[in-house]
Amino acid sequence: MSETATQNKETRGFQSEVKQLLHLMIHSLYSNKEIFLRELISNASDASDKLRFQALSNADLYQGDADLSVKLSFDEQANTLTISDNGIGMSREDVIEHLGTIAKSGTAEFFSKLSDDQSKDSQLIGQFGVGFYSAFIVADAVTVRTRAAGLPVEQGVQWHSAGEGDYTIEDVRKESRGTDIVLHMREEGKEFLNEWRLRDVISKYSDHIGIPVEMQTDVRDDEGKETGEKKWEQVNKAQALWTRNKSEISEEEYQEFYKHVSHDFADPLVWSHNRVEGKNDYTSLLYIPAKAPWDMFNRDHKSGLKLYVQRVFIMDDAEQFMPSYLRFIRGLIDSNDLPLNVSREILQDNKVTQSLRNACTKRVLTMLERMANNDNDKYLSFWKEFGLVLKEGPAEDMSNKEKVAGLLRFASTEVDSEEQTVGLASYVERMKEDQDKIYYLTADSYAAAKNSPHLEQFKAKGIEVILMFDRIDEWLMNYLTEFDGKQFQSITKAGLDLSKFEDDAEKEKHKAAEEEFKSVVERTKDYLGERVKEVRTTFKLATTPAVVVTDDFEMGTQMAKLLEAAGQAVPEVKYIFEINPEHPLVKQMADETDEQAFGRWVEVLLGQAMLAERGSLQDPSQFLGAINSLLTKG
Ligand code: ADP
Repeated sequence: MSETATQNKETRGFQSEVKQLLHLMIHSLYSNKEIFLRELISNASDASDKLRFQALSNADLYQGDADLSVKLSFDEQANTLTISDNGIGMSREDVIEHLGTIAKSGTAEFFSKLSDDQSKDSQLIGQFGVGFYSAFIVADAVTVRTRAAGLPVEQGVQWHSAGEGDYTIEDVRKESRGTDIVLHMREEGKEFLNEWRLRDVISKYSDHIGIPVEMQTDVRDDEGKETGEKKWEQVNKAQALWTRNKSEISEEEYQEFYKHVSHDFADPLVWSHNRVEGKNDYTSLLYIPAKAPWDMFNRDHKSGLKLYVQRVFIMDDAEQFMPSYLRFIRGLIDSNDLPLNVSREILQDNKVTQSLRNACTKRVLTMLERMANNDNDKYLSFWKEFGLVLKEGPAEDMSNKEKVAGLLRFASTEVDSEEQTVGLASYVERMKEDQDKIYYLTADSYAAAKNSPHLEQFKAKGIEVILMFDRIDEWLMNYLTEFDGKQFQSITKAGLDLSKFEDDAEKEKHKAAEEEFKSVVERTKDYLGERVKEVRTTFKLATTPAVVVTDDFEMGTQMAKLLEAAGQAVPEVKYIFEINPEHPLVKQMADETDEQAFGRWVEVLLGQAMLAERGSLQDPSQFLGAINSLLTKG
């Protein structure tokens, strides 16, 4: 970083991610170049919101100019378009921080995911939110002149960059508070140096912004001829969208407003706009995006809710109003009950916050229920993006557990597909007459779940089983114990009892077989000793000779694996070894009189069962040795 003496002028390099972002943007967002104006006007409006907020406690910040607005002017000769605001402005440090770096953690990781496929990249970059840098889609150089509210006129700052490796920054005198952004247009950006083109874009993107967006237009005489003079003309409606009547707002306006608050490029999936009077007096406008943001699972993921109090912007990232499992919601809450000087600390344990949070949570859940009932395809597209987050719900939100459970979707033996499309309500509808439990199975993958030996009897009897294979599922099932009054039952747990699905003849037959098999069970127990918790017969298998299960209140295999992967010390899972007396291999084993050979049979059956359950063995050589010796004998 070199520094030249004049006006404290420095040349600085961009953070490497900024360089990547600029490069990508210029190459992938061409088809959508007008969005630069949405982004810059959006920033200008945010800057005015911030000033208004800070001026609540320090009115001097207005410095005699309290009429906030955004002004656009262009100069065809000079080939420039200027977007000015009289908002909060930036100090030298702010400029370096905000216009030279991307202050979001995980950015490097995000960029490492980008491919060379530009159509895909432009979607990804949309999720990322390009903001200020979108200026470079249409401009080959950008000059920013800004002065932070409260600083003297000498402490203005000028930033300039051609959008390549670096930028310059120097102190300048700036009479007016706020920020001017001057775009030096590329050939392809010249279409925006036109009054009608600009009007068109502004009304498309900025009607709903709460402050006036003004444009310098030609003054015309009575006959419509240009007089050569210019005047400022307001070109947007300048009424904050959420304060308007629902019936007067078009779909497009809602969608554009979403892009303003979310910095998303895509249209939202659904939204809910409500004005509530009474005990609490507030307006909420909540959107469900179509695509998950790239950083949804980053620890410091920002909430997408803005808080307004009496129409004054108070803060971004108002995470207090939404539980974490709904952190994908975008939009705003405008409360008339909270004080204007509310801070994050005050919000923390505040009654109004609590009741708004409850109300907004219910609203979102209702919006999701409605979508699930009315438009299954849309709901499944939502589920694909956000299902994993919603699965955090039952653990986090006791009071809405049943509602959230109803929104979950899983794979199941009923549908031959890995897609998670089955809701618990539809499972319950299909339950057998005598069935009082919801059966489920957790495994590492869909393939492992679908082919699990535990399913054999269920298949034979036509009983549906929910198949779970997301990492979070085992954890989820610690919290989800019942739905619609029916308990959940893991089919790999010892408590599974299918006897009610057997007729008397079957019961008799099993009883006899169990009796006959007692000595084999005893011999197996003697051989295995402490290696298993218990040995017993089972009739739930068909083509598999044996399985292992865990006790109802013990940790299951998937949970143990999850904890192990997270580096935690996990006590060894003690399995119950279940043998199928009807299987030919088991019959052969039962006939074996030589105890050593019998032991080998046990090794082989237990090894198989463990492989099917865990995917690996603690001592593979023991298993292989037993197989080889049996094969040699054969
Ligand atoms: P985002 O708006 O998503 O934070 P941007 O790249 O658009 O990202 O802007 C980065 C930051 O630069 C903003 O958060 C804000 O702090 C600052 N900034 C941008 N434009 C202005 C402006 N017109 N007035 C004041 N600050 C601005």
